[in-house]
Amino acid sequence: MTRPFIMIVDDEAPFVETMTKRLQKRNLTVITAFSGKEALQKLAENQNLDVVILDVKMPGLDGIETLREMKKTQPLAEVIMLTGHATVETAIEGMKLGAYDYLMKPCDIDQLMSKVEEATEKKREHEEKIREAKVKEVMSMHGLE
Ligand SMILES: [Mg+2]
Repeated sequence: MTRPFIMIVDDEAPFVETMTKRLQKRNLTVITAFSGKEALQKLAENQNLDVVILDVKMPGLDGIETLREMKKTQPLAEVIMLTGHATVETAIEGMKLGAYDYLMKPCDIDQLMSKVEEATEKKREHEEKIREAKVKEVMSMHGLE
């Protein structure tokens, strides 16, 4: 698998910085955002993002609102919600809205890595299916099937 391209979204800057360093060491391409608004902007600028790691609790646009927008504009990018004990319900709501999975903070880096890899694989398989469907459509339009 070519290296996953991910975005970490969290209002706690030290957390974002630490996670970024750790995930870069594991060969991921990482961009960051410190608010929901910034995350939506960066998602629009980076159409090939595989996975978004999204904090549930943020001032301004919260995790759920950000997730809703992301699923509207770029439904193929997979989202992993990050939550504390107090907001597990919200993470579950997020999964109903299309998030791939959730993790409790503070999160175990190995667990996060394996979820990122799974989500990236799912996203790329999904893209591949769409490509195949488009090829079939074009071929049948030209009577090649
Ligand atoms: Mg937060």
